Amino acid sequence: LEQMRKDFVANVSHELRTPLTVLSGYLETLLDQSEGIEPRWLRALGQMAQQATRMNNLVNDLLLLSRLENQPEDREPCTVSVPKLLRQIHHDALALATPKKQIVTLECEPGLCLLGIENDLRSAFSNLVTNAVKYTPDAGTIAIRWWSDSNGAYFKVCDNGLGIDQIHISRLTERFYRADAARSTATGGTGLGLAIVKHVLMQHKATLNIQSELGRGSCFTCSFLP
Ligand code: ADP
Repeated sequence: LEQMRKDFVANVSHELRTPLTVLSGYLETLLDQSEGIEPRWLRALGQMAQQATRMNNLVNDLLLLSRLENQPEDREPCTVSVPKLLRQIHHDALALATPKKQIVTLECEPGLCLLGIENDLRSAFSNLVTNAVKYTPDAGTIAIRWWSDSNGAYFKVCDNGLGIDQIHISRLTERFYRADAARSTATGGTGLGLAIVKHVLMQHKATLNIQSELGRGSCFTCSFLP
């Protein structure tokens, strides 16, 4: 039954891709040639495009999760330059954080690499960084760190944002689990980000630790222990 569920989710997600591409494509064309369109229709088209993007993000996240669940060992791990990867993620985060006047810092141990799947690690790390930006109010601070000690290597993202109540923490990595539905809808997430993080870390034999205090901020730590 579990395999049937996985196959079903993977197939539905895959089948939804083509119709969604067609809808998004036409909406984009209509919005590009918007002269002469009545304002009330323009508003409706804008909202349709926004929701199509949201659906697209959901389908992409579901497909990524299916891939992580179904073919865990179909790709050879490579040496990933995590400092280089994090510089890209930091750069992307600045684009989201600068309009909110947030400060995003990056501290990396130079040359500290990891044996793994680069694209999956990128998804996991950037989900954690994007969440920190999303759930931190204007003028907040986000600190990204990557370092090692004698036990292993660690990736940590801390923010001084909204924080999460303790009662939610153990369930956060479940699909579609949200600590605060209203807040998450406003930020346009899919509710799948932390489930993706958990699966990527499981494949890299790493663990996720979440520490958070409501109203004070959160720290998400990924520990890669050999
Ligand atoms: P979403 O797409 O809703 O962000 P995630 O799986 O990435 O889904 O996160 C699950 C929930 O965990 C979010 O809806 C949010 O309530 C909470 N959360 C995640 N990261 C943070 C953070 N840095 N600060 C506060 N809450 C967070």
